[in-house]
Amino acid sequence: DIKPKSLLYLDNVSVSFDGFRALNALSFVIAPGELRAIIGPNGAGKTTMMDIITGKTRPDEGEVFFEDNIDLTTRDEADIAQLGIGRKFQKPTVFESHTVWDNLELALNRKRGTFATLFYNLSPEDSARIDEILETVRLTARKEELAANLSHGQKQWLEIGMLLAHEPKLLLVDEPVAGMTDAETSETAALLKEIAKSRAVIVVEHDMGFIRDLGVRVTCLAEGSVLAEGSLDFVSNDPRVIENYLGR
Ligand code: ADP
Repeated sequence: DIKPKSLLYLDNVSVSFDGFRALNALSFVIAPGELRAIIGPNGAGKTTMMDIITGKTRPDEGEVFFEDNIDLTTRDEADIAQLGIGRKFQKPTVFESHTVWDNLELALNRKRGTFATLFYNLSPEDSARIDEILETVRLTARKEELAANLSHGQKQWLEIGMLLAHEPKLLLVDEPVAGMTDAETSETAALLKEIAKSRAVIVVEHDMGFIRDLGVRVTCLAEGSVLAEGSLDFVSNDPRVIENYLGR
């Protein structure tokens, strides 16, 4: 089989809103376990692309396949989440009046359809998994803290941890480092690299220093399609990327 193995495959995807073509024959592939950064000017179609992948928006044209020929254009959002695609929006949405641990416990229970049942008897495996996630998202020392008392960056990490409780095969992360301190930003790059050892991650970001820290393949969108793709150096030296995005 000469076809490279892909986890997610978008082919010629187009979608218009009131005649405005938000995605224009967009094609995009990522491999299992790949970490990819998406950049591009406002209005380039980055959010619409995430909406297509998660089933929030249906394409007018084109194909979207996940894993072994699962056609995502026929699935709804809940189905797609169940298939293993998690999405982190820009603003953190943690339960402020619960502890860090309880937020993770809620997320784990929600995966089983027992949403909002805390004090459910946690198995030793579940506790171990929460401990593991706490380590990954740098919150072990703060597990008894109310989420409200975390810094903005720590809330973002907690929410990433809550998504990890669902064991996604693909995690979409929208502008994670906006509003973070420099220290939190570089820690986030390290954290996402660790997470991507066992799943694919797509990160939409504007922070070029952060993308450099990630050290991954970059896709630059403009006007609803891929303008350039490759290493950050390659993409950031493309004259069209400079004209449409970096030079602005
Ligand atoms: P980005 O995330 O790269 O800034 P978006 O995907 O949000 O770009 O937007 C692409 C274009 O599509 C924008 O011009 C936006 O106004 C338009 N758009 C996105 N979603 C909708 C929608 N649900 N209804 C109408 N227009 C939309």
